[in-house]
Amino acid sequence: MHDIQRLLSGFDRFRRRYYQEDPALYRSLCAGQHPGTLVIACCDSRVDPALMLGCEPGELFVVRNVANLVPPYGRGESHQGVLAAIQFAVEQLAVERIIVLGHSQCGGIHALMRQSFTTRAEAGVVGRWVSVAEPARREVLARMPGASLDQCCRACEKAAIRISLRNLESFSCVRERRARGALSLHGWHFDMARGELEVYSPQADAFLPLCLSEPGPRRKAPAARPARPDGGIGRAAAILA
Ligand SMILES: [Zn+2]
Repeated sequence: MHDIQRLLSGFDRFRRRYYQEDPALYRSLCAGQHPGTLVIACCDSRVDPALMLGCEPGELFVVRNVANLVPPYGRGESHQGVLAAIQFAVEQLAVERIIVLGHSQCGGIHALMRQSFTTRAEAGVVGRWVSVAEPARREVLARMPGASLDQCCRACEKAAIRISLRNLESFSCVRERRARGALSLHGWHFDMARGELEVYSPQADAFLPLCLSEPGPRRKAPAARPARPDGGIGRAAAILA
């Protein structure tokens, strides 16, 4: 099927589901949106937050950009679109949590680590944008001398999430709501090769695995990571609390 036909068929299914079979949701959403969660995700086509997290329309407010970055508040004019969306979500929508959702095989982080861009124009625009995570690249290069590019990229993806979490603290609205206990910040990393999610634990200052179930055929659990009888849900609750 031609791509555009596939997209239109998709819209037809969407319309049947939400306007014919269950019209109540959009009738209510027309009065206003009240998403509880802001997700800052990558533009990458393989990492769709609503699809991955099983959310319905109206549940997630999503900001997507190359490499899921949050620049520091007030840094120049060029980042205003991202900053405005975050500020709107926190101040106007009063979201209860912000999740910075990073992922493996991230092209933006790969370009940052290699400092290689296809064209001069890309180096200007993409390079300037991903330089928000330059402290992550420097940290990884200093911490992991001799590591492979793949290992450096995985580490940089996670270090960049921590930097974005730190940059969120430069928003006064974020600081105020966190102080009142009305907002929590989370850093998640999706490993698309293994189908696993790791969650940043500020206490451990590390990303900890969150495996709710085994996708596909069961694999033998590695000795260093014993199988958890509750499928990791208990641990997930502890990390996310
Ligand atoms: Zn990415």
